[in-house]
Amino acid sequence: MGRPPKCRRVEFLPQCTFFKPAGIPLWSLEEVSLTVEEVEALRLKDMEGLEQEKCAERMGISRPTFQRILTGARQKVTQALVEGKAIRVEGGNYEYVSRRLRCAKCRTEWDSQPTDPADPSCPQCGGNEIARMPRRRCQTRMKNWPESQGTPEKA
Ligand SMILES: [Zn+2]
Repeated sequence: MGRPPKCRRVEFLPQCTFFKPAGIPLWSLEEVSLTVEEVEALRLKDMEGLEQEKCAERMGISRPTFQRILTGARQKVTQALVEGKAIRVEGGNYEYVSRRLRCAKCRTEWDSQPTDPADPSCPQCGGNEIARMPRRRCQTRMKNWPESQGTPEKA
């Protein structure tokens, strides 16, 4: 039996987990499945526009591993767009990490939530000059990992 795969860090949990093309009857609808860490890879590379090295660092994985996850994710999304398939986001092997945020104006600090918008504003004064503090682990979510195989090694 191989070693459990390393846990990937994600800073974002998708709130929409099912995307369906319009006009395709359910009986003929096919799905592609993306894991939570695949969505995170797309988000870091294609939305935040980070270099692959930086993306890999943020997720606590090697660059080749990041490249592999990203390529797989892009292939699936493209396949869904071209062939009219639904996209489901589920499972994976990841650890959700929240970020500590601080308002530059009133110095209020709080933990980011998975439901936060990409550019949060201060809950106290509504200011939008928000600094990101060093990472802080607040919860771990493991999905699709059989307990009989033990706890995967932490990143
Ligand atoms: Zn504030």
